[in-house]
Amino acid sequence: MYDILIIGAGPAGISAAIYALRNDLKVGIFEGEAPGGKMVYTATIENYPGYEMIAGPDLAYSMFNQIMNLGADYIGERAETIRKENGHFVVRAGKDYKARTVIIATGTRNRKLEIPGEERLTNKGISWCAICDGALYRNKEVAVIGGGNSAFEESIYLSGVVKKVYLIHRREDFRADRNIVEKVKGLGNVEMILNTVVLEFIGEDGLEKLILRNVKTGEISSLEVEGCFEFVGLLPATEFVRDLGITDEDGYIPVSANQETKIPGLYAVGDVVSKRVRQIVTAVNDGAIAALDIIKKIR
Ligand SMILES: Cc1cc2nc3c(=O)[nH]c(=O)nc-3n(C[C@H](O)[C@H](O)[C@H](O)COP(=O)(O)OP(=O)(O)OC[C@H]3O[C@@H](n4cnc5c(N)ncnc54)[C@H](O)[C@@H]3O)c2cc1C
Repeated sequence: MYDILIIGAGPAGISAAIYALRNDLKVGIFEGEAPGGKMVYTATIENYPGYEMIAGPDLAYSMFNQIMNLGADYIGERAETIRKENGHFVVRAGKDYKARTVIIATGTRNRKLEIPGEERLTNKGISWCAICDGALYRNKEVAVIGGGNSAFEESIYLSGVVKKVYLIHRREDFRADRNIVEKVKGLGNVEMILNTVVLEFIGEDGLEKLILRNVKTGEISSLEVEGCFEFVGLLPATEFVRDLGITDEDGYIPVSANQETKIPGLYAVGDVVSKRVRQIVTAVNDGAIAALDIIKKIR
């Protein structure tokens, strides 16, 4: 029986684990992909206190090392369900794991465009991770789709690797911070294609071109690129808890000031929570609050 089972080893889950382990609780932490969460797929982080600039995978590795050194029980499995049984929780992940409390720290997953050609050309030119796949397009031309911070940050990274980046956005204004937009505008090999949506991905064994439509003029055109990176938003990773009735209409999880869901003993932290700001600092903040509340209750 664990004191806490944490689902998701991103910054939110890791932060909760650090506080709980340092208070001698028995902690198990599930991870379905790579420990570190979104940090693993982020080229550089420039807004986490203590580091003017750090590579995302380096920060992820350092946080993960910290919980392993503190004695976390790392379970490299994807959690499938959570249920309550005889006053404790059971997390199903290949087999059953029991705990007094559970923290959901599963973050978000990438939204897809869901247009023709996308499924067929996924990983054959279409990607959601510049740091993982950018090097495949060295000296080639690629497109980035989106108008938020992720699209701009990843365009900066790609501009240092590939020959040319086309940044395609459906509007004229951006959700991204102004300083990062200015930085991208100053790059010689990034061209912005605005008021434009992608209608279709074309290619047989690999991506060859995009079919575009200008939303103002209605004009249809094509753009030859070998790689395309989609950053068009995120969706909460909560499908596995939908039947618990703890999510809002968008699938995020509302919580109390102590990060507890409406089921006592079941907590949610980080990007999966219904809130306005989703960053590493807010994720680690949530993790600390949840763990400290659990420590207080268990003691
Ligand atoms: C491209 C990009 C760039 C970013 N840049 C910055 C930045 O510069 N600065 C900043 O502060 N923030 C940045 N962010 C946001 C930041 O990464 C997130 O706010 C933060 O990672 C959220 O942490 P989290 O732990 O809540 O979720 P995540 O980091 O998403 O981690 C959740 C983890 O849970 C795992 N998981 C999901 N479902 C299950 C399951 N059923 N079972 C087991 N494991 C599961 C996932 O595999 C993942 O590892 C960026 C985000 C993106 C996408």
